[in-house]
Amino acid sequence: MKIVIPREIAPDERRVALVPALTDRLIKMGFEVHLEAGAGEKAFFPDAAYQDAGAQIVSSVEDLYRDAKIVLKVRPPMLNKERNSHEIDLIPKSAVLIGFLETLRVPETAELLAKRGVTSFSMDTIPRISRAQSMDALSSQASAAGYKAVLIAAEVAHKFFPMLTTAAGTIPPAKVFVIGAGVAGLQAIATAHRLGATVEGFDIRPAAKGEVESLGAKFVQVELEEETEAEGGYAKEVTAEAERKEQEVIHQHVAAADVVITTAQVPGAKAPVLVNRGMVEAMKPGSVIVDLAVEQGGNCELSEPGVNVEHNGVTVIGRVNLPSALSVHSSQMYCRNLLALLGLLVKEGELNLNFEDEIVKGCCITHDGAVVHERTAELINKK
Ligand code: NAD
Repeated sequence: MKIVIPREIAPDERRVALVPALTDRLIKMGFEVHLEAGAGEKAFFPDAAYQDAGAQIVSSVEDLYRDAKIVLKVRPPMLNKERNSHEIDLIPKSAVLIGFLETLRVPETAELLAKRGVTSFSMDTIPRISRAQSMDALSSQASAAGYKAVLIAAEVAHKFFPMLTTAAGTIPPAKVFVIGAGVAGLQAIATAHRLGATVEGFDIRPAAKGEVESLGAKFVQVELEEETEAEGGYAKEVTAEAERKEQEVIHQHVAAADVVITTAQVPGAKAPVLVNRGMVEAMKPGSVIVDLAVEQGGNCELSEPGVNVEHNGVTVIGRVNLPSALSVHSSQMYCRNLLALLGLLVKEGELNLNFEDEIVKGCCITHDGAVVHERTAELINKK
């Protein structure tokens, strides 16, 4: 069965869906592996390394896709402006596409895939259940983002993170405040703590307290009367009254922090705005905010995607696609997630799709010419 890995064409993307070290795993599963020439280059994986691992390198993208049964991608298929054609038009009808398809953000992609007759699975809709942990690509990539966010903050901040005792006096540790203690937030807390900062973590879910404290940070608590945790351990959207109480607490901690990292999100909803203009103005000049939720609308009122906003001496960073900046390890982790999903979709070298399986059902977007993913279909029907 032919499995293909095209070169990602999104200009800001450095990751690749297959790494040389894991190529033999696909071959052992019964696949013939074809990779577009240069697909791993931006992640520092040369064609020769894939070839040595048993993959065939293909220069023409038409030849690559011809007779492909499975296509592995990172980013959603998009219009190739250089060729003036859409990547979806290259995928053979009835082939399987797996990648971050982002159909909850751009449902039109699902419509195009259904029209083309492609069966597609999206890595951003894998259910967050224990059995699917090894396939949870949102988590592996969020972890990379949380780590990188702290390094970016450390680069921009004009202060040391650790406490230093020097002949020129003692320097106190930097204060880092992390808002949202999910996957990205916990990795940010761990990284800032390792760099020697004094770290505080905040989350609307009281259950996060233990995890924050186990990483050596102080948990900032807000007493709310309402339930803040939904099914599956995710946060719920809170009432305006709860948001007001939350903001009062956040205000004091933001004002005292040298670095604020925001990662709060509720699945399927716009990110809550938790750091407003007034809070940014209460921070010391020279402080830094990194808003990881910027692509979901932002947790900070002043953040903008892809821009460093300067306000009263505070830098508000809205860098997007941070996992791409750690292309080697992000690709490696993503590839492991894909292999785990393929383990569920392929039996003895043949596709074996069991739509009764919660994971298969949860991440299948299109099948048999229709959009089968409920939330994506709802968005299409609302249009
Ligand atoms: P997650 O669901 O694991 O964590 C989000 C956390 O936010 C949860 O713990 C939740 O309880 C908390 N939260 C929700 N509402 C809150 C509120 N009102 N107050 C306080 N906490 C609240 O998500 P994640 O995988 O860690 O991702 C976090 C964010 O980082 C997302 O917006 C994600 O898209 C983003 N991200 C950005 C990049 C990038 O490159 N910029 C890369 C990966 C992830």
